Amino acid sequence: MTDPAVCPDPPERMCPSTPAANATVFLGMITPAGRVAYVTPATPAEVALAAAGDADTPVESRYRLAGPCVTSSCGFWTGDHCGLGARLAASYQEAVGPTEVELPKCAIRRTCRWFAEQGPAACPACSHVVTDTR
Ligand code: SF4
Repeated sequence: MTDPAVCPDPPERMCPSTPAANATVFLGMITPAGRVAYVTPATPAEVALAAAGDADTPVESRYRLAGPCVTSSCGFWTGDHCGLGARLAASYQEAVGPTEVELPKCAIRRTCRWFAEQGPAACPACSHVVTDTR
């Protein structure tokens, strides 16, 4: 039997672009320029959602929310990684090329699915994502 003190379970991976129904962490606000203004330290999603009020637009078009990665229950799951994170990181690198970027201060980096799989290349692309819940 494996000693959990020696070989702890890997951390639960967080999806950095999840619908409100699955959200546990408020990641940030979408600015009028369409960028994410990240919020730290981690704020419970329920606190932000309670303050969101009723609006004509879905909350996901105004907030970025994070929650547990649901792997095979998500259409972006390829079988062993998140296809959306891979696509975003690849398209950002294609458009901008290899550059040193200052990583945004986000609340979930330690457990983020996209960062775990794509590394720092995921983060500049992440800041342009508005969650599509359709
Ligand atoms: S991709 Fe980077 S900036 Fe976006 S949530 Fe993950 S660690 Fe944070």
